[in-house]
Amino acid sequence: MKDVLIIGAGQAGLFAANELAGKKDVIIVDKGKDVDKRTNILCGVGGSGTFSDGTLNLNPEIGGNLMDFTNRIGSWNLVNQVDKIFIKYGTPKDLQYYDPTKIERLKRVTLSYGAKFVEIRQKHIGSDNSPEVIKNFKSNLEKRGVEFLLNSEVSGLIIENNCCNGVILKNGEEVRAEKILLAPGRVGAEFINNLVEKHKIEFSYGKIDVGVRIEVPAILTNSITEINRDPKFHIYTKTYDDFVRTFCTNERGFVVKEEQDSFVTVNGHSLRKTKSENTDFAFLVRVNLTEPLENTTKYGRSIAKLATTIGGGKPLIQRFGDLRRGRRSTWDKIKRNPVNNSLEEVTPGDISMAMPHRIVKDILDGLEVLDKIIPGVASDSTLLYAPEVKFYAIKLNIDKNMQTSVKNLYAAGDGCGLSRDIINAAATGILAGRGILAE
Ligand SMILES: Cc1cc2nc3c(=O)[nH]c(=O)nc-3n(C[C@H](O)[C@H](O)[C@H](O)COP(=O)(O)OP(=O)(O)OC[C@H]3O[C@@H](n4cnc5c(N)ncnc54)[C@H](O)[C@@H]3O)c2cc1C
Repeated sequence: MKDVLIIGAGQAGLFAANELAGKKDVIIVDKGKDVDKRTNILCGVGGSGTFSDGTLNLNPEIGGNLMDFTNRIGSWNLVNQVDKIFIKYGTPKDLQYYDPTKIERLKRVTLSYGAKFVEIRQKHIGSDNSPEVIKNFKSNLEKRGVEFLLNSEVSGLIIENNCCNGVILKNGEEVRAEKILLAPGRVGAEFINNLVEKHKIEFSYGKIDVGVRIEVPAILTNSITEINRDPKFHIYTKTYDDFVRTFCTNERGFVVKEEQDSFVTVNGHSLRKTKSENTDFAFLVRVNLTEPLENTTKYGRSIAKLATTIGGGKPLIQRFGDLRRGRRSTWDKIKRNPVNNSLEEVTPGDISMAMPHRIVKDILDGLEVLDKIIPGVASDSTLLYAPEVKFYAIKLNIDKNMQTSVKNLYAAGDGCGLSRDIINAAATGILAGRGILAE
C-alpha cells in the first residue's frame, strides 16, 4: 500500500509529487505515455500544454486565482516557488521583454478610466524546450523515489464510509493508497463529473465567460501589444457593475471557428509565418449564477446554441457601429468595412438577437472604456464575432488542505476546477502536497 497515489502526471500532479518526494511513498498514475513517447497532446507525463510554446504567466490572478487558497503574499510566494522549480529543470531565467516605465504609464492611464491593467511578467518555456524540462522533472522525481504507472487509466475510486483508500484501473486492477490526489486536468473533467455524481462529492458550478471576439487593425493596438503580447484589461461596467475582461490577444492573428458538439463558437490564434493585418482578442463577461439555475455550463451552451441558430450554423459577425445603433450587419456592409474580416465563414447579423441584453450592454459599456485606453477599438468599423464562450470544469469544494468532502481524497489543477493555467495548476499541486503532509 502506497502513502499517496496521484491521478494525473500534469503540472498539478508533478508539483504535488515534488512536495511529497522523499517524505512519502508516492505513485503517479497517468493514462498517457511517457513524455518522449507521447502522441496525444493532452495526455501523458507533463499533461496538456507540454507541446505548446508554454507561456508562464507569473501572476497569481491569471489562470485562476491563488488568492482563493491563501493570502496575497502567500499567492505570490507560490508563483515564485513554481518559477524556481521550473528554472531548476531548465526553463529560462529571464523574463520576456518587459519595460517597467511603459507598464507604469499604461497602468496609470487604465486606472484613470476606472479599469485595471493586470501586469503579467511572462516567460516562454518554448515548444522545443518544454519536453526536456518535463523529462528532467520526472527523472528527478524518480531519483527521489516517486513511481510512475503510465498507460493506466483510473476508472473509479474505492470509497468506504466516506473515506477514499484506493483507485480502480480500467483493466479492473485495484491500487490502494492511504491518500489519493485527483489531478486529471481538463481532459479528466468528465471523469470528475462521474465521480461527483457517484460518490456525492461536494462541488459548486464554476463561473463562465461569455462574450465576443473583437477584431481591429493591428496598428491600433501595436503600442499596447509591444508592452505585453497578451494584455489583460479588467473592467467593471457602468450599468450592471459586471466584470468584463480582455483575453487571448493575437497580434496580426486570425479569428477561427470552433465546432462543438451542437453549436459553433469563435476563438483566435496567431501563426508564426502567416500574418493578418488585424489584432483579435476575446472580450468576455463573467457570469455567475445562483439558484434555481446554478449550472453555468447549461446556460453558456444555451446562449451558444441560440447564436448558432441565428447564424445559420456559422458564427455571427457584426460591425460595432451596427450593434451600437441596433441594426444588423449585412455582407454589403462587411465587404465595404475598412477592417477586413479574417474569418470568412461567418454570417453577418445582429449579436443582440443572440445574446442576453445584459451581456450585450456589458460589451457596449466595456468597449467604450477600452476605447479610452486604446483609442479606436470602439470605432464603428470594429468587428465583433459571436459567440465566444469559455466553459470551466465544475469546482470541487475543498478545505484548507485541499481535501474534498471525502476523507483522504484531495484535489488540484484544472480538472477539479481549481486552476486554468500552468502556474496555477502547479501551485495548487504544491498546496495539495503540503495539505497531505499537514494531515
Ligand atoms: C494546446 C494547449 C496549450 C496550452 N498552452 C498554455 C500556455 O502556454 N500557458 C499556460 O499557462 N497554460 C497553457 N495551457 C493550459 C495548461 O496546459 C493547463 O492549465 C495545465 O497543464 C493544467 O495542469 P493539470 O495538471 O491540472 O492538468 P493536465 O496538464 O491536463 O494533466 C492532467 C493529466 O491527467 C491525466 N489523466 C486524466 N484523466 C485520467 C485518468 N482517469 N486516469 C489517469 N490519468 C488521467 C492526463 O492524461 C494528463 O496527463 C495549454 C493547454 C493546451 C491544451
